[in-house]
Amino acid sequence: MRDGDALTLIDGGYPGDVSAVEYAINSLGRSPEDVQGMLLTHAHIDHMGAIVSFHERYRTPVFTDPTEVAHARRDYLEQAKGKDFIPMLHKHGVLPWLLRIARVGATRSLSIDDAQAFGSSGPLDLPGAPVPVATHGHTSGHSAYHLPQHGVVITGDALVTAHALSKVDGPQLLPQVFDHGKQDTVAALDHLAVLNAETIVPGHGPVVSMHISAAVEQARGRSR
Ligand SMILES: [Zn+2]
Repeated sequence: MRDGDALTLIDGGYPGDVSAVEYAINSLGRSPEDVQGMLLTHAHIDHMGAIVSFHERYRTPVFTDPTEVAHARRDYLEQAKGKDFIPMLHKHGVLPWLLRIARVGATRSLSIDDAQAFGSSGPLDLPGAPVPVATHGHTSGHSAYHLPQHGVVITGDALVTAHALSKVDGPQLLPQVFDHGKQDTVAALDHLAVLNAETIVPGHGPVVSMHISAAVEQARGRSR
């Protein structure tokens, strides 16, 4: 997210994706030192992995929901494990996907010991002034980020628009194996539906231009 010359980085992909993150920053004509803060939607390895490397390299501070801080520290782990995918191995595409994510570091054990909790409410003092939206469920401290002045919501894994293990495209929840609490994940959609946003930037799948309330309806319908 760019605000003048300054950047906020929201999530970063797998550990092996850090050079892609640096490339993306350079393609904006900026450098990694221009990133003033990094925000996690949640502490899953496919969102936090590259953030760990970036944090170690550039000492950029990392912020997340107060509840998610301990997850980022790995005081506990709310993430699907290899054995959770065994019943799915016969399904088309699951094994190639597992091999692909293993190559970019999905099985690595990483933590951020000094992740900081962001303030309780309102816009954060970071480039772009993102507003956290508590969407606890996918993980206990998952947060989306709203940019009200631009009509954009960054939904993380609270609502996605595609996934390698999903057969459908469009607004949806992730396959249940990825959610810590399915009921809470569905309930968290209520916090997204009330936002004023016409552009949805999900944690998986393409950016979608539609009102978030309509996207939530679709995701709810598909989750039944
Ligand atoms: Zn996730």
